[in-house]
Amino acid sequence: MKKDDCIFCRIANGEIPSRTVFEDYAVRVILDLSPATKGHALIIPKDHFEDLYELPEEYLTHIAVVSKKIGQLMKEKLGTDGLNVVQNNGETAGQTVKHYHMHLIPRYRDDGQNILWEPHTLEDAVMDGILGELTAE
Ligand code: 5GP
Ligand code: ZN
Repeated sequence: MKKDDCIFCRIANGEIPSRTVFEDYAVRVILDLSPATKGHALIIPKDHFEDLYELPEEYLTHIAVVSKKIGQLMKEKLGTDGLNVVQNNGETAGQTVKHYHMHLIPRYRDDGQNILWEPHTLEDAVMDGILGELTAE
């Protein structure tokens, strides 16, 4: 299902032109308008899902396969030194467009970007509490 007022629905379905590097029945891969690095691309499903929580499971493998294909292409054609695969869910996590998308951010030595996080240490009791809450069946 598409959402009429969603810009990524319109881009993914070709209603708004984009620099498309790959397209198939389910997704479009476009160059980000404000790239973090040269070649920064977005994998966008053609149907509207707000975030990972809404994305049907059958998309997960497909998007992972496409991320590998385009990541390999970036390595071969752009001479990258690394690749960050980033996917933001919710405003707190940095999501600005409320239509699921996966970022492919090619990395180059000395590209000036810092996509890593600040590590912390938590007490054992806190870690064990989290483990108790999160252990999945
Ligand atoms: P988010 O912050 O939601 O994870 O990422 C949204 C991304 O979409 C940003 O990197 C932003 O530059 C990109 N973006 C937003 N609007 C457009 C657009 O109209 N066209 C393209 N190609 N990228 C867009
Ligand atoms: Zn949408």
